[in-house]
Amino acid sequence: MQKNQRLYAQEVLRRLKREYPKRGPFVEWSNPLELLIGTVLSAQCTDKTVNRVIKKLFKKYRNAFDYSNADISWLEKEIYSTGFYKSKAKYLKGIGNMLVKKYNGEVPNKLEYLLDLPGVANKTAHLIMAKAFGVMTGVAVDTHVARLAPRLGLTYGKNPNKIATDLEKIFPKNQYLEINEYLIMHGRAVCVRIPKCETCVLSDICPSSPNGKKEPLKNVDFVTKFVKLQ
Ligand code: SF4
Repeated sequence: MQKNQRLYAQEVLRRLKREYPKRGPFVEWSNPLELLIGTVLSAQCTDKTVNRVIKKLFKKYRNAFDYSNADISWLEKEIYSTGFYKSKAKYLKGIGNMLVKKYNGEVPNKLEYLLDLPGVANKTAHLIMAKAFGVMTGVAVDTHVARLAPRLGLTYGKNPNKIATDLEKIFPKNQYLEINEYLIMHGRAVCVRIPKCETCVLSDICPSSPNGKKEPLKNVDFVTKFVKLQ
């Protein structure tokens, strides 16, 4: 069963990689602080809007000290279009304060320290660890991953923690970031709220598709087919 799950998961990832040869677009960044700020701003907001906002923001706020010294009402105006601007402004200033106070202005490269920062939960912390420091600490589960993973039968979990745990069992560590990003890309393009199964590259294997195998993880013929393909 465990082996079947892994083969099926690898087939899903293989097809998505072929479908989306270019990864992205995601939040643009050039250092760990920019990635952290951009990711916090991306909650409930599109990467396109975040990228438009941070283009100006990062010219003015260049380091943790700038966020720490920020005038909160100005900051609110500057990030207004990303939504939830009052909470996000508080998080950004709080992050600046904590980085200055505890980490000499640097973004820490330890998961538990990142999780201590205001506005940073598992999803953001795993992304920072993977992208900024190249350390895979877990699968980041955002709204797309939370929608697609159950549809694809990669998890039977409903909450982000359970979904992450299931994905971490069937994908090797070095694919934690890949599976996050490819599910996001597919969730934006095809497996949207009302999925376009008729045009999906996974439609013959996805248990949620009208043409799919209803229980791909248990279907021996289906799995054997992919064993032969490898
Ligand atoms: S077949 Fe349909 S439900 Fe399954 S991944 Fe594709 S679009 Fe989503």
